[in-house]
Amino acid sequence: MQITSLKLISDKREKDFNKLGIYTVEDLVRHFPKDYLDLRNITPISQVYHNDVVLTCGEVLTVECNKYSRRPYVRARCRQGDCLFTAIWFNQVYVADKLRPGEFLFYGRVQNKFGLELTIVNPTFEPAEKKSRLQGIIPVYSLSGKLTQKLMRYELEQALEKLPLASCIPYDIQRRYELMKLKDAYRKVHFPETVEDYREGANRIALEEYFLLISAFKVTKGGSDDARLNTYSVTREELDSFISRFPFTLTPGQIGAVQDIWDNMKGPHRMNRLIQGDVGSGKTAVAMTAMYMAVKSGYQAAMLAPTEVLAQQNASVLRTYFPEYNVVCLTGSMTAKEKKFTKALIEGGMAHIVCGTHAILQEDVFFSNLSLVVCDEQQRFGVAQRASLANKGESCDVIVMSATPIPRTLSLIWYGDLDITTIKDKPKDRQEISTSIIPERKYTDMLRYVAEQAKKGCQTYFVCPKIEEDEEGTIMSVTELYEDLKTKMPDTRFALLHGKMKEKDKNAIMEDFKAKKYDCLVSTTVIEVGVDVPDATIMIIYNAERFGLSQLHQLRGRVGRSSRKSYCFLLMGVETEEARRRLTVLKTCSDGFRIAEEDLKIRGGGDFLGTRQSGRMLSEIKNLKFPVETIFTAKALVDEAFSSTQDLTQLKTLAAGKYESLKDIVLN
Ligand code: ADP
Ligand code: MG
Repeated sequence: MQITSLKLISDKREKDFNKLGIYTVEDLVRHFPKDYLDLRNITPISQVYHNDVVLTCGEVLTVECNKYSRRPYVRARCRQGDCLFTAIWFNQVYVADKLRPGEFLFYGRVQNKFGLELTIVNPTFEPAEKKSRLQGIIPVYSLSGKLTQKLMRYELEQALEKLPLASCIPYDIQRRYELMKLKDAYRKVHFPETVEDYREGANRIALEEYFLLISAFKVTKGGSDDARLNTYSVTREELDSFISRFPFTLTPGQIGAVQDIWDNMKGPHRMNRLIQGDVGSGKTAVAMTAMYMAVKSGYQAAMLAPTEVLAQQNASVLRTYFPEYNVVCLTGSMTAKEKKFTKALIEGGMAHIVCGTHAILQEDVFFSNLSLVVCDEQQRFGVAQRASLANKGESCDVIVMSATPIPRTLSLIWYGDLDITTIKDKPKDRQEISTSIIPERKYTDMLRYVAEQAKKGCQTYFVCPKIEEDEEGTIMSVTELYEDLKTKMPDTRFALLHGKMKEKDKNAIMEDFKAKKYDCLVSTTVIEVGVDVPDATIMIIYNAERFGLSQLHQLRGRVGRSSRKSYCFLLMGVETEEARRRLTVLKTCSDGFRIAEEDLKIRGGGDFLGTRQSGRMLSEIKNLKFPVETIFTAKALVDEAFSSTQDLTQLKTLAAGKYESLKDIVLN
């Protein structure tokens, strides 16, 4: 149902809705509030602290609008009793039209620094005279263009009237578990009367969402039950002699993984296996044994990486260990001519091992006899992508490798279609990475330390979450940081790396950093996955509170790759209790699986299965906070539904559709 079928939505307004990703009425009801205002709880301005997020009220005295500064702003001077304060909006000059002298409610983050005027930055606001009409808890939505909170609420009222919002959970299960009606749940989330209302509603919607999602994995499961088509003639002696090419002995975990692969590739069923192991646990070596089994038996093997930097790195490692085979690398940044040549080698069977990025998935790459596909750092690959990969060869064996440990219960859902091997240990010569949270006053000392270490040949990563400033201007851009560090540390050699750079340039910089042409690499999270620079011993992360714990753990894993002592320094942009608590987990724990469990506990289930990069959500439950148990309840209900004898045709159709829509979706 098109959004324009609602009252008061003109073509122009429709565009504003579209900008929020809302095209249909169904999209609209899934536009969940990003926050709630508790109108029973107005904070006196004399009692607020720096960084508090508060709801307060005040009389607007003057409004000043500056459209032409580098960052256009609107500033309102306000008064509450004897206290004066300022409300300021950056890059939203249109708010000036909505402000006039009189009482307003403001909701936002407070800046209250010594010597500066107390300021609320980018607050949401409402004229206070409406207070009498608005009571209890009101939702706050993300807006765009000329949309207002009021209009959003009005349209949502209508949308909830119009849509049937039927549940896909079989009726008798709904009844047995006394589940709330889905429609009521939506109502409670958009128009809660109490905090409890909102929680119940959010839980019920999450349950519905996960029920469908898990059903989707369930109906499309399969693969590992397929009969094996490709058979491998390689002997155990040959494999062992290949393993002796490594300059190290395998860890028990690696040996176990190699055994799983051997059994599987020699067994009656096609391999469809996840190899899960913490950063640095040596998954590449394990994958190479499988690749050896393939090429030694006369097949081709492919290894996929999420970025070109990694694809190149893989190719160079593979060339070392497979000198008697032809290893090629096929990436998006190659010239048309190079690509054509490489594709011809692959199609003709002259290339035995193919490294690359998603480019390999493109239709016009043909293999002559591909039998094994390895996906490195799988979490960046979508569900459907792993299927399309297996289809490249005739009933290929597939290994996916992930360094994002996720709690076992969740992996059983997410990787429902795979067999799982876990590598629990790490090579012995690794030292613990010493992790600390660095307060602002120690910042200069830290930089001095980095400069000293650079002289000793130890390299440092500086990681910053974003390229541009965010609207509050609180996050330093990676370019700014780079410039700033260069002036502060003139004798140290810096390189800059971010996601908006050309692949070729990124690769060149990574290579130069590895070759020690630079001491420090200032970068966004593009370095997060897999990159191996043994002499890097210091990892500095800015605005660490913005990252998930598992992601921080991954970043930290970029150092500590040699026997030298390594350090991870975490800097907080905004200090909150919760941020400190989360980061402390990282300080005291180096086990990726435990970190994932803790992260899940602290963050709740809400954004766990969301996506980071594509902006699309695996589930439509963005902004909803609900306990993790909801996911497990959903799993239990799915198992129950599928083990009963009733007709599930409708559910299965819905679930299959859901699976389709999971294309491009990746795990956060
Ligand atoms: P990850 O599991 O994070 O992908 P890698 O496969 O990149 O880890 O391995 C990290 C580093 O450890 C590589 O330089 C690799 O050569 C080395 N390595 C792998 N296995 C062992 C081992 N058993 N003993 C010592 N070093 C190892
Ligand atoms: Mg790796």
